[in-house]
Amino acid sequence: MPPKKNLCDFCGRQEGENGIYLIQGIHGFICNECVAQAKEIVDQMAASQRSKENSGASGNKKPPKPKEIKAFLDQYVIGQDAAKRILAVSVYNHYKRLAQDDRGDDVEIEKSNIIMVGATGTGKTLLARTIAKMLDVPFTIVDATVLTEAGYVGEDIESILTRLLQASDYDVKAAERGIVFIDEIDKIARKGDNPSITRDVSGEGVQQGLLKLLEGSVVLVPPQGGRKHPEQKMIPVNTKDILFICGGAFDGIERKIAQRLNTHVVGYGNVEKTYHIDKENMMQYIAPQDLKAFGLIPEIIGRLPVLTHLETLSREALRQILTEPKNAIVKQYIKLFEMDGIELTFSPDVYDFVVDKAIEFKLGARGLRSIVESIMTDAMFETPSGRKKKITITKEYAEEQLSGTTLSRLRNG
Ligand code: ADP
Repeated sequence: MPPKKNLCDFCGRQEGENGIYLIQGIHGFICNECVAQAKEIVDQMAASQRSKENSGASGNKKPPKPKEIKAFLDQYVIGQDAAKRILAVSVYNHYKRLAQDDRGDDVEIEKSNIIMVGATGTGKTLLARTIAKMLDVPFTIVDATVLTEAGYVGEDIESILTRLLQASDYDVKAAERGIVFIDEIDKIARKGDNPSITRDVSGEGVQQGLLKLLEGSVVLVPPQGGRKHPEQKMIPVNTKDILFICGGAFDGIERKIAQRLNTHVVGYGNVEKTYHIDKENMMQYIAPQDLKAFGLIPEIIGRLPVLTHLETLSREALRQILTEPKNAIVKQYIKLFEMDGIELTFSPDVYDFVVDKAIEFKLGARGLRSIVESIMTDAMFETPSGRKKKITITKEYAEEQLSGTTLSRLRNG
């Protein structure tokens, strides 16, 4: 008779069966899979406990007023006043709506998901991130370009909620009041009216999937993300109170706006004389119809009732971004050096130089950081092991660094 194999006292499976191995206790055995499952249960219980504690504490906390929200945003984000005001109001209303749910009132305030349109690097993500920081709610950023319809290569729509769950440490209740920023929403626009034999995997199908989340429904979410598979235990998440903020550059949408305004002007005869259209900044006239013309389906547009635009950053704004916000790029480098006991200063013409380069490279604010990083790399490599306690970055040094030369002109302050 073969030797008797040990069994897991929880699930009864045998040692050696399909990668099962056993851990021995005083009175019995437990297999690796039961341990993993037990851990999941313990984590969920801990999260639900935390959630109970949190809802007790934050339930009484009043949400910040729109002006307070804007003032907070002002500390981190330069300009973009129109977007800030609209965001502040929407977030405030969102919280009022959450508060109202408990009272079972007749008038139901509808959810106000937001869509922000503006060129890349104008601060869309920064605005969403800053709001989440202020409200202290779970927040996640997802890139719409990686989403595909279920069954195709890419991420399922539900993965958006997986990330939110991860951001909330699997506290489902907290996640259900979180904020999701969906970036590059313009990239899932329908690809024109050109019907093709292959399906529009990354376009309309994804928009349909997204609709389900935006509308507010209970979605089964794979806790670890990735593809759904039968053994994975799904977590139900209700998206009713999740605030979705979408952002996109919508390249070329100005043309659609112009077309609409032109037809409008023709249709109303004399209106042309009374309205002055600022052709340099067409984005300010954006309306839901333009999003439709760009390729978003009407249902999605309907679920993103708050539409706002971000302005192209002026030279002045770029310069401010470099030095003024609470965690301005320059302040971050000064801090990094300070941690090594080194006093870092920049001569003011360096800022103008960096801004010029960012404009030249057409990188917007996104470029400021990488340009400063290229300028500072050598200094950050050398100075921690050197003896200098003060360094000043001059324009000549910055120019040299950007053209790939050495540290030689770093002046000793
Ligand atoms: P977007 O999402 O519009 O493409 P981001 O918000 O990611 O742009 O901005 C990229 C970077 O540029 C941010 O990390 C931030 O430092 C900076 N930035 C962009 N716009 C602003 C702004 N209005 N005020 C302050 N910093 C900004």
